[in-house]
Amino acid sequence: MVDPNQVAGLEACAANDSPDGCLYGTGLYKTGESAASVDDTFRGPTGTLEVPQRFLMGPGPGNANPRILAAQTLPLLGHMHPPFLAIMDEIQAGLRYLFQTSSNYTLLASGTGHAGMEMAVANLLEPGDTVLVGVNGIWGERVADMAERFGAKVVALHTEAGTALSLADLTAAVELHRPALLFLTQGESSTGVRQSLAGVGELCRRNGALLLVDAVASLGGVPLFADAWQIDAVYSGSQKCLSAPPGAAPLMLNERAMAKVRGRSSKVRSYYFDLLLVGDYWGWYGSRSYHHTGMVSMWYAVREALAIVSEEGLEAGWARHDAAHRQLWEGLIQLGLEPFVAEERDRLATVNTIKVPAGVDWAALCKHAMDVYAVEVSGGLGPTAGKVWRVGLMGYNAKPANVELVLAAFRSGLALQGFTGGVSAAAASA
Ligand SMILES: *Cc1c(COP(=O)(O)O)cnc(C)c1O
Repeated sequence: MVDPNQVAGLEACAANDSPDGCLYGTGLYKTGESAASVDDTFRGPTGTLEVPQRFLMGPGPGNANPRILAAQTLPLLGHMHPPFLAIMDEIQAGLRYLFQTSSNYTLLASGTGHAGMEMAVANLLEPGDTVLVGVNGIWGERVADMAERFGAKVVALHTEAGTALSLADLTAAVELHRPALLFLTQGESSTGVRQSLAGVGELCRRNGALLLVDAVASLGGVPLFADAWQIDAVYSGSQKCLSAPPGAAPLMLNERAMAKVRGRSSKVRSYYFDLLLVGDYWGWYGSRSYHHTGMVSMWYAVREALAIVSEEGLEAGWARHDAAHRQLWEGLIQLGLEPFVAEERDRLATVNTIKVPAGVDWAALCKHAMDVYAVEVSGGLGPTAGKVWRVGLMGYNAKPANVELVLAAFRSGLALQGFTGGVSAAAASA
């Protein structure tokens, strides 16, 4: 309730040039600090926010499913209220389905995909551990950087951008270096490569290593079976194939990975990401305690995203992504464009890399797509910068109409630059 005396005091203050005259009677400065005048230089913003509608067909974020955005407008609950804890339980169950695991240890890290990455690295590596990092794009490079910061000895296993690591090379490297952990990126979104995980889990078991997989750009879009493939830890992100806004990172650890966490001889060097603490908020150890406030509306979004995944079914979702990928390439090849990833089996359905033909200005095409079609098509990243376009077909966006729109943007953008792809101009414009 507003105290009328206080309001009167404030009005008197506003009319008074000397702020010190306002020190008494309002309660605002009862702590003894002196009053200064408020600097209005940067006052604002004001008015209701408006943003343009765009088709986010780059490597992420993709467009959010409207049903997920609607879930975020539901009223907040307290982060320890039983109805909210029940939502967290639903999320954990939905994540078990999504990761195809029976592990008790699933949660959402508070943050984007990098939060899942950093949580995994911080907890699964101790200073002095050797980590073997598969590098075929920027994600391996980042994990190597993070692992080094947490005191691990990093051995990088490189393969050319646009190719996947072979099981033979992985086997030789694991047997030589005997790492505590092997890291691979299932969907390398900087190069458009889908890394096969066939045989990798077994290789790690035989050699006493943990297997950590980055599935940020692939989870929900291409098959992943954490238990059957013996993946010990895997993380993802909310804004790619789950079609939620960015801000939550699904994470799973199995018993082997948890044994490592429990058996650490040193504390995890990150408080915020310590799984012994965060896991206790998610009920991993049989109780619940506050660690940091659950990201209430964000968790609603992921709950809804997981419901959408469950209603469609994983196999139907994977098939839908594959169909969109095929539709895209059929159209791109007709336009005379070529895939950056030479081997068909290594092409990632969810993030497609397209070679920029000689003489074509990739950035001008992106600008055209945005200006005329409100379609985001991205350029390359890291090793592919300037060499490719990247088209994301993820979650809600992996559907025929969106693919057609991307193809229309390429068709007209290339025509404007006089590129006919070796096809006659008449055929190209047909
Ligand atoms: C997008 C992406 C990330 C990083 O996710 P952020 O949400 O940007 O933190 C990590 N790995 C892969 C493979 C990605 O595609």
